[in-house]
Amino acid sequence: MIKDALAQFQQALSGSNCRLVAVSKTHPVELIQEAYEAGQRLFGENRVQELVAKQPELPADIEWHLIGHLQTNKVKYIAPFVHTIQSVDSLKLLLEIERQAARHNRVVRVLLQFHIAEEETKFGLSLPEAEALLRDEAARTLSHVQIAGVMGVATNTSDEQQLRHEFGTLRGYFEQLRREFFADDEAFREISMGMSGDFRLAIAEGSTLIRVGSAIFGNRAYPAA
Ligand SMILES: *Cc1c(COP(=O)(O)O)cnc(C)c1O
Repeated sequence: MIKDALAQFQQALSGSNCRLVAVSKTHPVELIQEAYEAGQRLFGENRVQELVAKQPELPADIEWHLIGHLQTNKVKYIAPFVHTIQSVDSLKLLLEIERQAARHNRVVRVLLQFHIAEEETKFGLSLPEAEALLRDEAARTLSHVQIAGVMGVATNTSDEQQLRHEFGTLRGYFEQLRREFFADDEAFREISMGMSGDFRLAIAEGSTLIRVGSAIFGNRAYPAA
């Protein structure tokens, strides 16, 4: 089943500018291994503890993305191996990632997470907050962090117009920041948006990374807050 689902995504995305992050939170390493053997290399987890437990059990060439809220004091646990931290929403967190990545002589890719949903509970920056962050002297001298784009979680709704509006808003933020801060930086190129229920709309609105869990692995056995 996992293999079939992945084959459909591979086919749908082939030749496009969009890649699939398989969101494996709550699922055992056996299922992740199965997806790996079907050719999947990008995986997303939302909890540090779970990611740190799974990573050593799985092939070293997996590109691990942290997609959940990250506390500053937990950066050190994932700094040795994480490929992309998609959930950066403060300068403090950005600077801690710089510090921990430097300790391991690595460059960690990060995305700035934006608040695009209606729900108040979702984490993320506003455009003015992101601009302030990027203007800060400290953010301009990072050498172990590569700011590679933006990420957002849309409202949990089936209202297509609203979803398109939220995805379009995130793409607008991306374009604005690229003009303002990353005009000569080809590494700034990711728009991470779209999940199992809304990835088609997200792709239509310019997503370069869809984060899909249940459409690949089935329903989660327990909630992954
Ligand atoms: C769980 C999660 C996903 C995947 O959700 P599905 O609906 O299972 O595809 C995507 N993004 C984030 C931030 C998540 O926490």
